[in-house]
Amino acid sequence: MSLNHIRPWRNIYRRKSRQIMVGNVPVGGDAPISVQTMTNTLTTDIKGTIAQVQAAADAGADIVRVSVPDEASAKALREIVRNVSVPIVADIHFHYKRGIEAAEAGAACLRINPGNIGDEKRVKEVIKAARDYNCSIRIGVNAGSLEKHLLDKYGEPCPDAMVESGLDHIKILQDNDFHEFKISCKASDVFMAAAAYQQLAEATDAPIHLGITEAGGLISGTVKSAIGMGNLLWMGIGDTIRVSLSADPVEEVKMGFEILKSLGLRHRGVNIISCPSCARQGFDVIKTVEALEKRLEHIKTPMSLSIIGCVVNGPGEALMTDVGFTGGGAGSGMVYLAGKQSHKQSNVDMIDHIVEQVERRAAEIEAKGDLAAE
Ligand code: SF4
Repeated sequence: MSLNHIRPWRNIYRRKSRQIMVGNVPVGGDAPISVQTMTNTLTTDIKGTIAQVQAAADAGADIVRVSVPDEASAKALREIVRNVSVPIVADIHFHYKRGIEAAEAGAACLRINPGNIGDEKRVKEVIKAARDYNCSIRIGVNAGSLEKHLLDKYGEPCPDAMVESGLDHIKILQDNDFHEFKISCKASDVFMAAAAYQQLAEATDAPIHLGITEAGGLISGTVKSAIGMGNLLWMGIGDTIRVSLSADPVEEVKMGFEILKSLGLRHRGVNIISCPSCARQGFDVIKTVEALEKRLEHIKTPMSLSIIGCVVNGPGEALMTDVGFTGGGAGSGMVYLAGKQSHKQSNVDMIDHIVEQVERRAAEIEAKGDLAAE
């Protein structure tokens, strides 16, 4: 049972946005905040791209974006879309015709960058294709590729220029009576992105796709994304997210979920609460957590697990988790189940034992439909 009604300090009040569909995934309104990633295979490598999309989907991705840089990629997209389980967003730059081809090929959404898609006439043709083939559109503003007239007007990329670019393109879609769109306003600078997104959130009710673009490698990019997007999500801004990392798309998905899990906005898999360890630890906390993270990747049920080195914080944390293990000395520790002290367990085979307990608890939660355990 969720206890958020008696913990008001945990609540996040999401901005009210319109809901659109990306294939069968609702984005905006009261839909769960969806997690996206993007493939980095050659789109013409159909087999490789399908495998990457599916790996991301297995990790929990709700939506996957695929680049469509040329006609051959648009052709390949048709095959890719048919063989994956998640909606595909076609990423379109420079060539508006690729947008039309991608819509025909079955893309669920077209991402177009206002700064480089061309004049209004071309945008109109893309809108027509989106409408004809039941595609939504993402207006993907990026600080690094703003229209020339806006750079001339503002002198450099800035939140005002980004928002103006986004609103101009919203107007084009609306003037064409097209309303199935969402919008992003990405920058690699967290201050610029956060300011742009806040202004945008005030100026439109369109669903917002959050991202800190070109954030960096796995660690630095995750930290930057968690700060930038975390702040916005905490304010209630954001309906779908992508963590952009120079890393495997599966890592982007995992990090996206970690950010949402930290804010209680999405619950998926095991949320491990573990201590940093110190001289008091009754077992090797770091190695144990590393092993458990790998061994528990298959669990999709939202639940919590505390792995704490000693009795200083262990019993207290265990009271709030589905499964807990607290080191106690003399080669064994205490197992807690559903917040209650249960039994002693030797450190020797504790990992197998904890995996077993987590699997059992996950099955119990699923059976009861008690999905608010986190
Ligand atoms: S819980 Fe115990 S072992 Fe872990 S860091 Fe704190 S004092 Fe150290």
